[in-house]
Amino acid sequence: MKVGIDLGGSHIGIGLVDENGKILYKEEKYIKNKDNIEKVIEEFITEKVMQINLTNEIDSIGIAIPGTVSENKIIKAVNLGIQDYDLATELEKILHIKVKLKNDAKCAALAEQKYGELAQYENSIFLCIGTGVGGAVIFNGKLLEPKGVPGFEFSHTIIHKNGNLCSCGKRGCFETYASLKKFKEKIANEYNLNSIDGEVIREFIRNNSTDSRLKYIINSYIQDLSIGISNIINIFEPEAICIGGSFAEYEDILKQPLKKALLEENLLFNKRDDIIIKHAKLKNDAGIIGAALI
Ligand SMILES: [Zn+2]
Repeated sequence: MKVGIDLGGSHIGIGLVDENGKILYKEEKYIKNKDNIEKVIEEFITEKVMQINLTNEIDSIGIAIPGTVSENKIIKAVNLGIQDYDLATELEKILHIKVKLKNDAKCAALAEQKYGELAQYENSIFLCIGTGVGGAVIFNGKLLEPKGVPGFEFSHTIIHKNGNLCSCGKRGCFETYASLKKFKEKIANEYNLNSIDGEVIREFIRNNSTDSRLKYIINSYIQDLSIGISNIINIFEPEAICIGGSFAEYEDILKQPLKKALLEENLLFNKRDDIIIKHAKLKNDAGIIGAALI
């Protein structure tokens, strides 16, 4: 029995996960700051888990971190306002249970590989596209992880010289073009929409599919996205690509255009007739299930 924790920008999802990757119990809480993170986790373990599951021992706690993790420490998690934070040691002192941390996209990739859309492939890529872009590579059945620094920062590969300024300080990073949040903001600004709520934006796109300005915005998003993804394909030649994050909700709008651009634009070194793009199956549970697999 393991505890899987998905740390988000403003909330935390905590679940009790069995050896088959099934979430037996979960709850979601809002978090304010890092002291609050420790408190919420401690309360969950001491109050809820111990009550429900007194007879079973908890082997370990895994935490999916929305940021950079190195040697089981949080180096930087911009959305949480956290830098150089040894959350694992702090929790181990209180709970006396082994705590392991990993980047959230890598956790979600592990979950999809074990229980989701990537289970049948030896070589695959997982991309989490939402506010930012996270990524992971499964190669010969294993999650690739360099020693020392985390690596696989697809989001910060440059796709435009002197392009948009990125939160990392560089210009032209893939993330600044592939961000679904920025894509929604662009549409909302262009058409004076009051909301960038996903459902509102998707409905607007579906109802205005012949509008030429809207087509232009979608095409330029797809162009940038396909350039970034083709670079990853050319390096790793995965059998399949799985896309998670809020992008998965745009399957009917963006999947075919993305596939078409990858296959028909002159982007891939090794030409092919088809490309397998899957949409993440485990959705919001991928972080909790993946964290339990660390
Ligand atoms: Zn960057």
